[in-house]
Amino acid sequence: MIFISAGHHLKDPGAVANGVQENLLTIDLRNLVTQSLTKLGAKYIIDKDTETLAQYLGRIKSGTGSVICELHFNAGSSKAEGMEVLIPERNTEEERSLGAAICDAGHATMGLRYRGVFDETKSHRKRLGLMRKEGINVLVEVCFITNKSDLEKYEGGKTQFAQKLAELLKKYDDMKQ
Ligand SMILES: [Zn+2]
Repeated sequence: MIFISAGHHLKDPGAVANGVQENLLTIDLRNLVTQSLTKLGAKYIIDKDTETLAQYLGRIKSGTGSVICELHFNAGSSKAEGMEVLIPERNTEEERSLGAAICDAGHATMGLRYRGVFDETKSHRKRLGLMRKEGINVLVEVCFITNKSDLEKYEGGKTQFAQKLAELLKKYDDMKQ
């Protein structure tokens, strides 16, 4: 089973910059990914737009063969750019290789800089709530909401990226039952 969630719900804007809100971007991208997953015939569960992360995590039951993916947008200086993927501190080969493949897809479909795959201790929160579930855990920081050029690249290629991300999530979900 694939679990795909928007990093922020409707009452939690997340980062706000350049006239856009992170929660609306992540909800939109999650919907694009699920459209592609449906076309691929993949099974998935999503978060509700009004649900907090704690409520969502309390509801879902993943297994060792599951793929859990959460979408976020990064914030930093107006010059900071590119895509990164966060994985658990105690990570697996699958998490490292899926993370790298997602960053590759971000570069190929949107021209975003490849920042790389980092364990959660490198994130500003140090320990991410998402990463405690059984299965392959990845948190995608798509691009910088604080960088206008990143946002233009994102808008130009998001549909192709969503398709590629859906294919990757299905591929890793299909590896183990
Ligand atoms: Zn976020």
